[in-house]
Amino acid sequence: EAKQAGKNRLRFFDPQMQDLLNQRLGLEEDLRIALEEQQLVLYFQPQYDHQPKLIGAEVLVRWQHPTRSLLLPGEFMDSARRAGLTPALDRYVLQHACCQLARWVDQTELASLVVAVNISASLLYQPDFVEYLTQILQQTGANPHQLKLELTESLLLDDMPLAAQRMDELRVLGIRFSIDDFGTGYSSMLYLHRLPLDQLKIDRTFVQSLPNDDNSLAIIRAICALGNSLGLEVLAEGVEKPEQRQTLTEAGCQNFQGYLFGYPLPADRFEQQLIQTQTAKI
Ligand code: C2E
Ligand code: MG
Ligand code: MG
Ligand code: MG
Repeated sequence: EAKQAGKNRLRFFDPQMQDLLNQRLGLEEDLRIALEEQQLVLYFQPQYDHQPKLIGAEVLVRWQHPTRSLLLPGEFMDSARRAGLTPALDRYVLQHACCQLARWVDQTELASLVVAVNISASLLYQPDFVEYLTQILQQTGANPHQLKLELTESLLLDDMPLAAQRMDELRVLGIRFSIDDFGTGYSSMLYLHRLPLDQLKIDRTFVQSLPNDDNSLAIIRAICALGNSLGLEVLAEGVEKPEQRQTLTEAGCQNFQGYLFGYPLPADRFEQQLIQTQTAKI
């Protein structure tokens, strides 16, 4: 009966909805300030090959909000989108990632680390994106060969010809590309050979249900076969258990990212952690 009443009520007067709306509006305003006052923090999560040898790190943004706890992307990306701040947020992350790359050049363990940055459609499709990135690379002194951009399938399908053009231009600079969350979008194999790709990233949802889910395993096997036959690196995200790593290896996946290998950490703790694991191995 309560459910029935709820259905007929106008949504605007639902106090919970109103709360949510106010909260979101608050975040949208706060986010503008956050970008100006550098409240966004870059976290780095390590990526390993089969040995396991460190091959790179994905940059994951967090928001150190002045009055709330540390916010995860899931808690503020929608607000960013609504406020039209996604391109600004992505630029912020790119710029800080390039600064970090330039800083790490002096550290033996990190000098050649490849850093993967998540890019949204609203930035990739901006007319001056290539110009912007060229500028950032020059200003920071970061090596473009150490920069990888993670793009999702749905982003690429928005405007495939334009995406291909942008990627070709960036490729000339030495930048690499990964398809993020592969397998969750409207997977179309048709576009794969038209784009200058380096990596397919198997989505966490498939990995999570391993080792006992036959459907996930079948999809993972297919992605690995596809990637391997196209000469692309295949990396699995969200690897938490040794059995998942084992099953992935058997399916033909050679590269891993996930809590089993390392949590996302801010730059200084990421460095410490790496030095510790390196010493532990010796
Ligand atoms: P994503 O790019 O697919 O990133 C992987 C997510 O899985 C991250 O969540 C990461 O913390 C989480 N993860 C990694 N390993 C494990 C694991 O072993 N187990 C579990 N349960 N989770 C794991 P996060 O940091 O909350 O990011 C969520 C999404 O937000 C990202 O998904 C990405 O799409 C987006 N995002 C993050 N940073 C940025 C950014 O700087 N710019 C843009 N445009 N999007 C970003
Ligand atoms: Mg990603
Ligand atoms: Mg991903
Ligand atoms: Mg994912």
